[in-house]
Amino acid sequence: MNDISQPAVGIDLGTTNSAIAWIDEIGAPSTLRNAEGDFITPSVILLEGENVVIGKEAVKAKGTDFDLVAECAKRELGALLFSKQLGERQFPPEVLQAWILQKLHQDAQSQLGEFTRAVVTVPAYFDETRRKSTMDAGYIAGLDILDIINEPTAAAIAYGFQLGRRDPEEAKRERTIMVYDLGGGTFDVSIMKLCGNSYTALATDGDVQLGGRDWDQRLMDFATEAFMRQYGLDPRDEPNTAGRLWRECEDAKHTLSQRMSTQIACDYQGHAMRVEVTRDQYEDMTRDLLERTSFTTTQTLAAADLTWADIESVLLVGGSSRMPAVVTMLEELTGHKLDTSISPDEAVAHGAAIHAGALLDEASERGH
Ligand code: ADP
Ligand code: MG
Repeated sequence: MNDISQPAVGIDLGTTNSAIAWIDEIGAPSTLRNAEGDFITPSVILLEGENVVIGKEAVKAKGTDFDLVAECAKRELGALLFSKQLGERQFPPEVLQAWILQKLHQDAQSQLGEFTRAVVTVPAYFDETRRKSTMDAGYIAGLDILDIINEPTAAAIAYGFQLGRRDPEEAKRERTIMVYDLGGGTFDVSIMKLCGNSYTALATDGDVQLGGRDWDQRLMDFATEAFMRQYGLDPRDEPNTAGRLWRECEDAKHTLSQRMSTQIACDYQGHAMRVEVTRDQYEDMTRDLLERTSFTTTQTLAAADLTWADIESVLLVGGSSRMPAVVTMLEELTGHKLDTSISPDEAVAHGAAIHAGALLDEASERGH
């Protein structure tokens, strides 16, 4: 068994949001809340003089101090410097990633006590350079990275773990599943073979320039066009106004996952407007984006030389997979009901924690 002083911790270091989980006292993966009380931490950085603020408050600052906010550093791993200057300074992307890790680490330590070891996940398509940069970010943050594993593998591990808890015998059987991960800036689809404790990727594909932000962008265009028709002014001309409108649009998108219509508030240069948008309108204006994911999904299945009959389960991962249109599309494509037993925001961090637990167990058995 694990040494209690060394918790098994896994980190999903996402482009848009990050999460940290551990294996709790009863041996189950559990997501840790951050200092703000949330399970997920936006991977957004605000640099205020010497003060680094990560997460929700940094997101808010997009509407007031846009120049000091950095997002999507993960996309630029491997580059020498992050493309956006913060104030007067420019940083390597791994330093920005390290700040995010540091925040997760610190907030977790306030609950678990001191620890240094963790497993961190990366996209399946990350090359050696970007894996190495992720390791460097961990090192800068004072973490001892036990292993780096692929996000879809982590999601599959979390799923396998759950199967095993429900029915240990049944979980040993070989099965093929699909992981559909639609995040904030990327789309990834993988086909995985599970058998006991072994996880093999049969095919993996995706689109590194497709994610929730593109859905936000469509609402942004919709709202600004309405504003321009009314007042002849483009609210995107002013960065802080654009930042605020972006948050409004993302919020409206979340509402449309639950409700049939909502409003987007936009005010600029003394003019205020509320733009009404229905779920039908929203689904129409984003249909081509969804179709791109269904096209890639079908292609990936073909690349693995499989048909839908071979896929036992489709795991929905990533915040954007909460959109009802995604579920409908996948149910039509696959011809069966989707598995919603894993949490789209937590599965990757949970899988990483389970993997960390296995590695620590191995090490303690070997007497380290
Ligand atoms: P990443 O893996 O890129 O870090 P996440 O998996 O956390 O990202 O997904 C973030 C995206 O999910 C954002 O674009 C966010 O707006 C979107 N999202 C989260 N919840 C919902 C929801 N209820 N409806 C629609 N989109 C959502
Ligand atoms: Mg993700």
